[in-house]
Amino acid sequence: MDISGKTKICGVIGNPIQHTLSPTIQNAAFNHLNLDFIFTAFKVKATELEMAIQGMRSLNIYGLNVTMPHKNSIIKYLDEKDPLVRSLNSANTIVNKKGRLFGFSTDGIGAIKALQENGVDLSSSKVLLLGAGGAGRAIAFSIIDKVEDLVVLNRDPAKIKNLEFDLKLKFNKNIHYGLLSENSLKKNLRSSDVLINATNIGMKPNSNLSIINPKLLTSDLTVMDIVYTPIETKLLADAKKVGAKTIDGVEMLIYQGAASFELWTDRKAPIEIMRLAALKQISKRCN
Ligand code: NAP
Repeated sequence: MDISGKTKICGVIGNPIQHTLSPTIQNAAFNHLNLDFIFTAFKVKATELEMAIQGMRSLNIYGLNVTMPHKNSIIKYLDEKDPLVRSLNSANTIVNKKGRLFGFSTDGIGAIKALQENGVDLSSSKVLLLGAGGAGRAIAFSIIDKVEDLVVLNRDPAKIKNLEFDLKLKFNKNIHYGLLSENSLKKNLRSSDVLINATNIGMKPNSNLSIINPKLLTSDLTVMDIVYTPIETKLLADAKKVGAKTIDGVEMLIYQGAASFELWTDRKAPIEIMRLAALKQISKRCN
């Protein structure tokens, strides 16, 4: 890597940030294509977001990924917003075009690509989405007009009501909503082809937990978990045991990162290189 005054600097901002995989994934892709870019991670406290964005402008940082807790609060510092960003009121990618900051959201497209590239035909799929937090909302907004039917369940009724209100403003499609419970899971799983876990349940250090009683899982389901620490969550292990198709959270991570990469570089992302780099880093951390 030959860093010079012309090298374009990108990074990820969040807090905490020490476990981020983005530098590993993005630098592997930049290096593979011999691009004059470098990617790093910046710990930015919620109270210092405005200063960090001023810094992005004055240091001429070219691109940022934005992660928790800034995905919503970043909105007010953007000069231009993608329509999806306006609907979601959150962004995870910024491109600095000659001092103007453009915001995008790549989580939803990452989830869709993860499903499609793993052989799921969304147009004929009934999808059950669990979670209406940041990632759940992004997935719902992106997937809604690609699937035959969508059901969203969430624990907090206020979040599900907000999502319902926002989606109805935008899409003329019948979507079903409900509270997350053993009963609603049982009822909706029967008629679903694809199950997406977009809650935190199963994430380290609670990797012994699953959102679903394994008895409800069947071999005709495709189960995608967006949690990627661990790679094989309890939900995915249970789904594999009954013979269901499984897609892990690294897939979405790679495809959302690839979409950000393409916004910064205008080049096609080297998916396999990015996946290998992520898996290598995760296995290093697990040992
Ligand atoms: P978030 O905005 O905090 O939302 C968390 C979601 O989990 C909410 O729907 C919340 O429900 C639900 N939840 C948490 N604890 C629960 C419990 N005990 N019972 C039922 N529901 C519970 O977080 P996020 O940004 O959406 O992220 C969610 C997960 O996705 C995280 O593990 C994150 O690492 C992962 N993620 C992965 C990718 C990827 O590329 N693979 C991208 C983004 C996020 P309530 O509304 O009821 O609180």
